[in-house]
Amino acid sequence: MQFKEVVGHHKIKEKLIHTIKGNRVSHAQLFLGSEGSGNLALAIAYAQYVSCENKQENDSCGVCPSCIKFQKLIHPDLHFVYPVSTSKTVKKDPVSDDYITLWREIIIENPYINQNKWYEIIDVENKQGIISKNESKEILKKTESQNF
Ligand SMILES: [Zn+2]
Repeated sequence: MQFKEVVGHHKIKEKLIHTIKGNRVSHAQLFLGSEGSGNLALAIAYAQYVSCENKQENDSCGVCPSCIKFQKLIHPDLHFVYPVSTSKTVKKDPVSDDYITLWREIIIENPYINQNKWYEIIDVENKQGIISKNESKEILKKTESQNF
């Protein structure tokens, strides 16, 4: 996802780009906002710009190998954690990766999706999605394997 695909957020985009140009990218950042505001799209566009191998003045190139992987949401440095629950296909100890293929399809189609629509898509019926302690273990495994 490129910045140009993210609706609005002009000032924030400028600030984010400025941090990259100034080589002042924080190791962790939180994109917080109301549902449908585009924070997820903005975070993905930012991550893509950070990793782009041929950065343009105000956006990622969209065509380098890194950008292609980001557009498919399969870049090895791009990890997602989102609330999940058991469903007809995941019976026990659900973690985000159990739904990653579906997640990628849905987010590529509509990065502005809200939480209830997500639950409807993964068919968790009336259960509340959670980020479990098993998910925390998965995060640790992924970050440890990347030698931060
Ligand atoms: Zn690129």
